[in-house]
Parts: sequence; structure tokens; C-alpha cells
Amino acid sequence: ETMLDVARVRSDFPILEREVHGKPLIYLDNAATSQTPSAVIDTLDDYYRRYNANIHRGLHTLADEATAAYEGTREKVRAWLGAASHREIVFTRGTTEAINLVANSWGRANLRPGDEIIVSLMEHHSNIVPWQMLAEALDVTLKVIPVDERGVLDQAAYRDMLGERTRLVCVNHVSNALGTVNPVTEMARAAHEHGALILVDGAQAVPHQRVDVQALDVDFYAFSGHKAYGPTGVGVLYGREALLEAMPPWQGGGEMISRVSFEKGTVYSEIPHKFEAGTPAIAEVIALGAALDWIADTGIDLMAAWEHHLLERATDKLQAVDGLRMIGTAPDKVSVLSFVVDGAHSQDIGLLIDQLGVAIRTGHHCAQPMLASMGLDATCRASLAAYNTPEEVDAFVEALQKVIAMVR
Ligand code: PMP
Repeated sequence: ETMLDVARVRSDFPILEREVHGKPLIYLDNAATSQTPSAVIDTLDDYYRRYNANIHRGLHTLADEATAAYEGTREKVRAWLGAASHREIVFTRGTTEAINLVANSWGRANLRPGDEIIVSLMEHHSNIVPWQMLAEALDVTLKVIPVDERGVLDQAAYRDMLGERTRLVCVNHVSNALGTVNPVTEMARAAHEHGALILVDGAQAVPHQRVDVQALDVDFYAFSGHKAYGPTGVGVLYGREALLEAMPPWQGGGEMISRVSFEKGTVYSEIPHKFEAGTPAIAEVIALGAALDWIADTGIDLMAAWEHHLLERATDKLQAVDGLRMIGTAPDKVSVLSFVVDGAHSQDIGLLIDQLGVAIRTGHHCAQPMLASMGLDATCRASLAAYNTPEEVDAFVEALQKVIAMVR
């Protein structure tokens, strides 16, 4: 098989049958949240109907089944990311919490006043604000890699920034605002040559391409379930075993201890449990496993090729729209079409096109610093998933043209 069978893919997503304002839904807000296949919905349902129980501590059958399914997903995630050990996979609430974990645990244990963290200008706020908070608390300096007019990171500026005091580099694998794919392997190599670590925000990469943390040679890698055909409320932090071993816990509570005593002190669990305090999102973790199974069954390479085909079609069509300017024209990009239109506010376009059944996103996409550097406070963003079709792309551009005619 060489082409994605998109009709089959669509039949896995019940929500795609619904209408919005009397029109068939055209869902192009996948970078915010992707839709959920029946296999994932059924997994959530099955958990609550058959084996809802708290994990790890129980000696009864339901607790055993829930624990096996939860830990089974950890192994699926390990295999999916190409990590060396399941001990390197920590479940979090999402990408945001994964980054905050590294900032609060690794950051507070390892950073000294005057140390430097490098972030890029194209980061999502979730890969900026935790570092700003840490920089303020620990008197650490933040340096920011600039972005050119195509939406490509300035690699020469990055290499100039790396120095003796650089401790950590934080960069997204794929930009949610522009779709730019960043050269993470080379950036990791450069960071390591300077004795620094690299944390990669993979929220927009995992749904769209194969990811192998060992091939990328990164130290931390984060992603969210809800952008990868999984449920909300669950995400993953990959961290190198030796790093996680040495890091202190950042939240205390049940599940993360092996013994608690006022007299003899408290002993923490082994990794990864040391970083999973409290009852986790058990159903959602298990359903994340179902989402990865769904992606594997569908074929990530077929999905990527299909999305690339849609991206090219949409780019060509949008570029032909009078007064429309694409924001983000990196040679290596996936799935995201960000644009502004002369004489039309992005918000107006978003509201009016919703009336025609098309869901896109407008605003700053949690990337205000980069948009500001481009002289923008908002764009319209259409973002694609494997279930989108060429017909939807055409209908979207047609709807956009109607909307532009209305607002001009
Ligand atoms: N990083 C990127 C690149 C994102 O696109 C997002 C979500 N828009 C996040 C981080 C934050 O993810 P979450 O809200 O799931 O924690």
C-alpha cells in the first residue's frame, strides 16, 4: 500500500460526521487538538465499564488489570519514541507539565546564578514561561535564538550563543504557529559539544512524523496525548535515565515514595514513579496507548505523506488568494498553514468561516514573541491531520474567499 485510504481513516472518527451551523464540519484546528478515533474512545469507555481501579497498590484483580494496562502504555510509548528503557518515560498531564517538571526538578537542582538557558523565539509559551520563572528565581540568563522572515531559526546565531555558561537549550521540534521543522539533531550535537543539555518540545512533531529520541540524541523530549489522536489530560516526558535518576522529585505525595516515616525519613520510588505523585490520569494514559496503536496501524509514514500532499495543495491554493500572505514558508515544514489577509482581521475571518462549518484558529497561537517580531499580533491558522481530504482543502479555500469578500 502506498497511499493512505482516507475514507477508511475518516470512518474511525465519529465526530467527523457532525455538522456545524448546518454545514459538514471541516476540522482544521488539529494543531490545537486532534480528533479522537473510536479505538481511543472505546478504550476510555472500557476502562470505566470493566476495570476502573487505582493502580500499583491494589492486590485485587481490577487494580492488577489497570496497572498492567497503564504500565503497558509506558512500554508502548518507550517503543514509539525509541527510548532505551521504560524507566525513561514519565507520564504527565501534557507537554506543559513535562516542561515544568524539568524546570522545577532539573533546573532548581542544577542551575547557578549566571548560568544560561537558550530558548528559541518560535517557542510556544509553555516552553518560554517556565524558563522565565526559573530565570527570575535563580538569577539565570535567558538567551533567545532569532527567527528569519521565513520562520527558520538562525543557526549561526544559535552557535554564537552557545558558551561555557550554557546549561540547557529548549526548542520545539515543530512550531505550532508556523509548522517549521527544526534541525533538532544538529542543534543537539552543538549543545552537547558545549556540555549543555537539550530539551525538545515535540507536541507538534509526534502526530506528524516518526520520532526517535536516540537518533535525535536529545536529553528530554515532551509531547501531549490530545494532539496525537489521544485524550486530553495526559502527556509524556522522556528523559535520559541517568538524568532522571539524579533529579529530585518535584511533587510529593502518594505513588512516588517507597517509604514515608517521620522518624527515619522518606524514601522515594525508583524512576519513573518518583515523578508521578498522586493518582495519575489512568484511563487517559491507557487510551494514549490506544492512540499510538491507531497511528501505528494507520502508518505514520503514510499519514505524513498524505498530510504533505494536502499541505502542498493548500499552500498553492492559498497563495493564489488575492491579498493573502503566508506566514511561515520554511523549506522543511509540516501540517500548518498560517496566514494573514490584507484588509481583513484574523478574528473576523475565524468567526465567519465557522459559520460555513470550517474550524480554524486565529490569534497568537501562544507564540506572541515570534509573531511580535514579525510585526503581527494574530494570524489565521489552518492545521491538518491525516483524516483531512483534498476536497476539504478546496472547500476551505472557497469558504475563505467568500469570507474575505464579506469583510472587505
Ligand atoms: N508546545 C507546542 C509546540 C504546542 O503546540 C502546545 C499546544 N498548543 C504545547 C506545547 C502545550 O501543550 P499542552 O497544552 O498540551 O500542554
